[in-house]
Amino acid sequence: MSDLRESFRRQAEALGLEERLQACPLPEPILVEADALERVPAYIAGQGWRKAAIACDERTAAAAGRRLQRLLEQAGIDAFVAVIAADAAGDVVADEASLMELLLAAKPAGADVLFAAGAGTIHDLTRFAAYALGIPFVSVPTAASVDGFTSLGAPLLLRGVKTTVAAVGPAAVFAETGLLQAAPAPLTAAGFGDMLGKLTSLADWRIEHLLSGGAQGGWSAGVAALTDSALRRSIEQADRLRGGEAAGGSQAEQGGAVVSVQAEAEQGGAASGVETLAEALIESGLAMLLLGASHPASGAEHHLSHYWEMELHRAGARPLLHGAKVGVACAIIADYYRAIVAAASGKDGGAGSGEAAAAAAGTGRAAGVDAEARPGAAEGAEPASPPSRKSGLAAPTYASLPPVSAEAASRVAAAAGPAWSEIERIVGSLPSGERIRELLALAGGPGSPAELGLSDAQVERALLEADRVRPGRLTLLRAYNEELRKLG
Ligand SMILES: [Zn+2]
Repeated sequence: MSDLRESFRRQAEALGLEERLQACPLPEPILVEADALERVPAYIAGQGWRKAAIACDERTAAAAGRRLQRLLEQAGIDAFVAVIAADAAGDVVADEASLMELLLAAKPAGADVLFAAGAGTIHDLTRFAAYALGIPFVSVPTAASVDGFTSLGAPLLLRGVKTTVAAVGPAAVFAETGLLQAAPAPLTAAGFGDMLGKLTSLADWRIEHLLSGGAQGGWSAGVAALTDSALRRSIEQADRLRGGEAAGGSQAEQGGAVVSVQAEAEQGGAASGVETLAEALIESGLAMLLLGASHPASGAEHHLSHYWEMELHRAGARPLLHGAKVGVACAIIADYYRAIVAAASGKDGGAGSGEAAAAAAGTGRAAGVDAEARPGAAEGAEPASPPSRKSGLAAPTYASLPPVSAEAASRVAAAAGPAWSEIERIVGSLPSGERIRELLALAGGPGSPAELGLSDAQVERALLEADRVRPGRLTLLRAYNEELRKLG
């Protein structure tokens, strides 16, 4: 048995975070182990809860929800499974309709505890439903797919707009390693993408601190170190996440009827790889809890991801996995930030500095004109049209990034003053976009926008507009775009 809560506490204490630990009740327990679900009934009985609602989707009801229901009923606890319906395209979306469905299932039944038995979307719905009903929720992750299992906020799509609303964190986490390993391989790869995103989110957090003279972001070196440690451990395991290389036995053997045949066939990776990733994701979530904000784990790469999510939703397109978008966006941001820093430092002669990033992406692009890429739209208006370009026809990666304006970049640098050299160092220490794509590929996930089905135009729009997704958050992307808009 390994209670991640205790190891996390020890790590945090060693980093001088005792006060934050005292102020912030962590879920208890946080189990990541082979028979985690078996431990749930004793925990529930110990809390005095008598009636449980288990939120699932079709897949996770089969993988975990119904077994959890049986385990609880065997222990004399009333339990029912609420399967959240998929939309016409087969996806469960964290929107008003799904939320209402869960509330209508749980409220009349008089549940005194809600379970989230699923991946990120089920957790987002459950944490808000529990908050709205004033009852606790317990996390049962069925995939190592996001770092939001333990978060306090629920990102929901409300009238098509990605809105993070206040909710509750889980009272406890029971992550069964067999379930995590049996999850569809794209979910695990997405979890790795969400984790890799910490490369740029940590950079952005520090940059926010520097650009605001310490006034914004609530920088904590200890919390950053916790997130960074989780990130490094998951990178070390990148090559152990892919399906078809499993070292463990069949999950179906271990878990009876737990896992579908399809899930078994897609079973992803050696036990330690997926387990390490799951632990890293949970720790990243706990680091956010300690800070009381998402800065360590969410920067410009997340804003790009949210922007695409809303754009796809408006277009009626199928949603993409959160972490898959974040991983791809992380590689883009790493390249774009390098181009901004290079342009500010006059290393690239200005207008063509987008080429530096394009070169890093393995392709070239003719020098652009700054004015081309400027968003002409006012706040809240439709995104500006991107400059026309020749399509990169199934290119292995984006053909180019928008050209960087040397003037806007220089203004960011000037405003940063002496802190700019530190920002240069932070951006310089980021892996290249190419390296990030290599890591994503190693984990079996998409690396380029094209692999996600996103066009160059969508990449450009996101770079120019996505900082508006999160108005209160300062990132290098926002600082640069604001200067660009002033010039516009
Ligand atoms: Zn994320």
